[in-house]
Amino acid sequence: MAKQKNDEASWEKLFWKSHKYNERKRLKTGTYLHAFCQHCSKELTKDDILLLDVTSPDDKLGHVELSPFLNIFELRTDIILHEGKELKDIRCPHCNKSLIVLDRNCDLCGSHTAKYLVRISHKKIPFHICLKVGCHWHSLSLEDEEQIILEESDEW
Ligand SMILES: [Zn+2]
Ligand SMILES: [Zn+2]
Repeated sequence: MAKQKNDEASWEKLFWKSHKYNERKRLKTGTYLHAFCQHCSKELTKDDILLLDVTSPDDKLGHVELSPFLNIFELRTDIILHEGKELKDIRCPHCNKSLIVLDRNCDLCGSHTAKYLVRISHKKIPFHICLKVGCHWHSLSLEDEEQIILEESDEW
């Protein structure tokens, strides 16, 4: 059984593989990703920050500034957030609509996620972030990434 699949082992492998995969691809760590609200289409990124309105686990309203650079995890906030707690809400600062989605949970910790769109070349594709403070999970569908890279391959 040379091709036997061991689900547990391959999960970890996949996880690491996808990291390597990302590094090898056009979207390198540190790539600036312009972010947009999925509701009103306004840009969430401005200069070197990605600004979002949040509701903390204890119902405080505040703001967070995230890094718009891929795989650079920085967070500044004007309210107290404790690591390991899930934010109650993340909202667009322009239209005030919630960015939380119910159809996708964090692959690492199972928390809810928020979704916004990132522009890569001429496309806007969904990008999910985990609501748990301190969890550095985010997603960019590999299919989306691959498609973009294929479309851009003439630039190489
Ligand atoms: Zn909006
Ligand atoms: Zn998570």
